[in-house]
Amino acid sequence: MAKAHVVVIPYPAQGHVIPIMELAQRLVQQGVKVTFINTDFNHKLVTSNRLPKDGFSGLLQMISVPDGLEPWDDRSDVWKFTTSILQTMPGKLEQLIETINKEENNKVTCIIADVCMGWAIKNMGIRSAAFWPASVATLAAILSIPKLIDDGIINNKGLPLSDQIIQLSETMPPIKSENLGWACFKDVPTIESAFQIVKEGEEVYRMTEWFICNSTSELEPAAFSMYPKLLPIGPLLASSRLADQTGHFWQEDDTCLKWLDKQPTCSVIYIAFGSLTIFDQTQFEELALGLELSNLPFLWVVRPGMTTAAYPDGYTDRVGSRGKIVSWAPQQKVLAHPSVACFMSHCGWNSTIEGVTNGIPFLCWPFFCDQYNNETYICDIWKIGLRVNKDDSGIITRGEIKRKLEQLLGDKMLQSKVLDMKEKATSSVRKGGWSHKNLSNFIEWIQEEEKRQAMDDLALKA
Ligand code: UDP
Repeated sequence: MAKAHVVVIPYPAQGHVIPIMELAQRLVQQGVKVTFINTDFNHKLVTSNRLPKDGFSGLLQMISVPDGLEPWDDRSDVWKFTTSILQTMPGKLEQLIETINKEENNKVTCIIADVCMGWAIKNMGIRSAAFWPASVATLAAILSIPKLIDDGIINNKGLPLSDQIIQLSETMPPIKSENLGWACFKDVPTIESAFQIVKEGEEVYRMTEWFICNSTSELEPAAFSMYPKLLPIGPLLASSRLADQTGHFWQEDDTCLKWLDKQPTCSVIYIAFGSLTIFDQTQFEELALGLELSNLPFLWVVRPGMTTAAYPDGYTDRVGSRGKIVSWAPQQKVLAHPSVACFMSHCGWNSTIEGVTNGIPFLCWPFFCDQYNNETYICDIWKIGLRVNKDDSGIITRGEIKRKLEQLLGDKMLQSKVLDMKEKATSSVRKGGWSHKNLSNFIEWIQEEEKRQAMDDLALKA
């Protein structure tokens, strides 16, 4: 018997792979067959770490296509990476789908692709759904690109034409033009490449039947009301935060959970900056010394490749067992641990929703892309965190870090707001919540679609 069969295509970055993998697992749990297509490079990373348990039941198949670069090429070069993806992946994916469709009882019912892989939705001639892994406020800016060009705020390559505050609707968080997701890079080729990745979002919005988002209207009512076709199905991570996560590029170091068990309740600062941020020597040192100065227990993720800087002299001896440093943490389990008091974060959307759904206050330290938007949500709209500010030389000093940590942990109002937001965000993915309903309807549609296709095929053969 054929089953509904979905091809899932993430954008090849850690913060995109993790949430769409979560979606893939929800589909598998409902009996949908999933072919998950990573790039060869990411496939190697993901499959050398924890694999989804359902993968072994045969419903989830992990395969890969080349991204066009050599294994040793620099994938953080956005221009090079984007050019290569766009030149290589569409043809490879088309071939792959043709091959799959020739297999008995394996015809692809639907493609679910990350909006940043809009070409996969537009060109494959198969029913498709778009998945947006980040905040809908960020997506709203992307969907407004034609208007931003018409209004002379950006040019047709995405470059802001002047410094402005953009207010997409009266109730939406304001965005500085320099902080538009694609525009907050230092050099023009990178901005233009980032723009190339997102600019088809609006066309995807118009043509796709299903546009599902890893967010909830409880968190972003204004953004969802601007674009009614956007369907909240998240936060996807909330309902499985205690389960083992999959899709990671690095091996999680579980020893930090045992270390957390030994710390007093609500005492630990958790510091993690996602998968892409880079620290120079001065900023790395200031952060290290700020954590030392705060005199609180801390768990700090220093990812491979995050810095080439050294720890200050004698640092690890001085902080001793008060500080635990790991290269990659099981973040969702860490944030759910009762010992964690606050999250010093770069405000990537996954980290943001993981903190919110665990009721953890934030110290926000954004670097690029949607992280500034998310900081605005956290500090100004939801009021569940504080920002750290740079000094005149552009550094976040150890003194600022200590001060803000004290202020954050002493703010009782903020602590109660955090619990409020936790309830709001988690209620939507519980049975009866909107996100839960939308996801169920979507899965039902996939299954119905498979039946329709099977009937059409039978009719053709008759
Ligand atoms: N993450 C993790 N362990 C770490 C750091 C990050 O599991 O030590 C996960 C985190 O839970 C999140 C993802 O990596 O799901 C990072 O995504 P996010 O959107 O926060 O940031 P990005 O990496 O895209 O900048």
